[in-house]
Amino acid sequence: MTEDSPAPTSDLRPATLAVTAGRPPHTSDEPLNVPITMASTYVAGGDREYGRYGNPTWAAFEDALGALEGGRALSFSSGLAAVATVLDLVGHDSLVVAPRNSYSGTILQLADLESRGRIRAELVDVRDTDAVVKACDDAALVWLESPTNPALEIADIPAIEAAAHAAGAYLVVDNTFATPILQRPLELGADLVVHSVTKYLAGHSDALMGAIVTRDDELLAVLKGRRDLIGAVPGTLEAFLALRGLRTLHLRVERAQTNATELARRLAGHRALDEVRYPGFGGIVSIVLAQGAMAADLLTHKTSLWVHATSLGGVESTFERRRRWKSEPATIPDALVRLSVGIEDVEDLWADLSRALDDLG
Ligand SMILES: *Cc1c(COP(=O)(O)O)cnc(C)c1O
Repeated sequence: MTEDSPAPTSDLRPATLAVTAGRPPHTSDEPLNVPITMASTYVAGGDREYGRYGNPTWAAFEDALGALEGGRALSFSSGLAAVATVLDLVGHDSLVVAPRNSYSGTILQLADLESRGRIRAELVDVRDTDAVVKACDDAALVWLESPTNPALEIADIPAIEAAAHAAGAYLVVDNTFATPILQRPLELGADLVVHSVTKYLAGHSDALMGAIVTRDDELLAVLKGRRDLIGAVPGTLEAFLALRGLRTLHLRVERAQTNATELARRLAGHRALDEVRYPGFGGIVSIVLAQGAMAADLLTHKTSLWVHATSLGGVESTFERRRRWKSEPATIPDALVRLSVGIEDVEDLWADLSRALDDLG
């Protein structure tokens, strides 16, 4: 017996969408979840045809993320594959405006495109709304990351949206840090949202994936065409894991945020620290060690729960000194340690971290 399942609609709240969107119809004896479909090719005559053009497991993930962001999603092999696909939208010699403290991979892509004469890039202090608005003037694409990784700077998205659109530019928001649980840029007027699905959306440090979300069907078709052509498609297992992770996104983000808020409060004024940065939401806290980069490196080797690792947004707490990467912008303090606060018990996290900080002397 088949019963039509109610299609998730935008009047459902995020927690309900995270759990229900992208599920198959409720049909007796059929699985509740979309299974892993391993297929490089499909029987001819339909829409998919070939494994590079589509996959039911990706489609389920895309339906769920699209519902959460309030648009339609396309999945990619990594966050940077999604970034590259978006940056490729602009014409030759176009101006792209972006935060100077964007994710280092995004900065590297902009520098690479610029060095090859493909685009012009203007890097801005994203907190300085007047400067960003001014830079929008002859832009073709305005890139925002808010909060930025790892400086945790916040952009005035509505003000910049108005300026970008007045200039006829696309507005893109990398929403990796906030996730659609805390911020939905399409509702604020952004044309495109980009995600490193690798981080909070998948959430368990076991899969690399990216995504783009938009409400503009023409843009979606162009981006899908680019994905078909370039082939930067996700693995089926990755899409399954990302969707599995997405089902608990709201709980994980809420708990990480509660933990991060408490840790930021306790860290404030610690004598080992020059600075504690927390934008007031999300699960990332950045601290700057008073005794410099060596103390920061030492800290990352003195804990037992906190894992010294790059990346972020997993259930487990991780941290690293970002400037240990040569590619990190020099505007990031040398002694800055980015904490990706997980969903463990905050008292255990605090005991481990504060012991290591006190040990620094
Ligand atoms: C990690 C990250 C990316 C890149 O995503 P990958 O999945 O690692 O390719 C892009 N933007 C932000 C904000 C990130 O943190």
